[in-house]
Amino acid sequence: MVQLVYSSQPTKQMASRDLMEILDVARERNQDARITGLLCYAGSHFLQVLEGERKQVCETFYRIADDERHSDVTIIDYNYPPERLFTDWTMGYAGLGEIRRELIRRHAPDGEVASLLPDAGSVMAFVRDVAHELSHGFLSPD
Ligand code: FAD
Repeated sequence: MVQLVYSSQPTKQMASRDLMEILDVARERNQDARITGLLCYAGSHFLQVLEGERKQVCETFYRIADDERHSDVTIIDYNYPPERLFTDWTMGYAGLGEIRRELIRRHAPDGEVASLLPDAGSVMAFVRDVAHELSHGFLSPD
């Protein structure tokens, strides 16, 4: 079991149709590869967590990193957790436009996702909060 976390920047502003196209393909491919995770879209950045068997996670990540819909793909963390964090989602999704600013501010005082990125611990704490809000229905998944 490995967990890989990366950030990237969309190469254009993503409409919800663009995001749904990404998610439809991602969920189908991830189900086949037994990958779970979470994708956050914050306008200026994507943050994504991929977890599963090492081979599958690496192959999927290389494919994603090659995708022209984003650039500046940067690994934030790569670790070996004892268990999956996102057991229920082939790819959970949170459009950060919907996330209350205070949720970001809990981890980045200026409310900017970009300010989280240098510190893997802050990114993971933020991702856990987003997952918690999503799974409790506090967050619209759009
Ligand atoms: P193909 O479908 O053959 O596409 C090849 C290339 O064409 C892509 O890399 C991309 O640059 C471009 N392309 C494909 N479709 C479109 C489109 N609709 N609009 C514009 N350009 C397009 N895939 C997963 O399997 N799992 C994931 O979790 C996952 N997460 C992603 C997260 C993000 C932020 C992005 C941008 C993509 C993600 N993808 C994910 C999609 C992944 O990058 C591949 O497109 C997908 O896995 C299909 O791979 P393929 O080699 O068959 O690519």
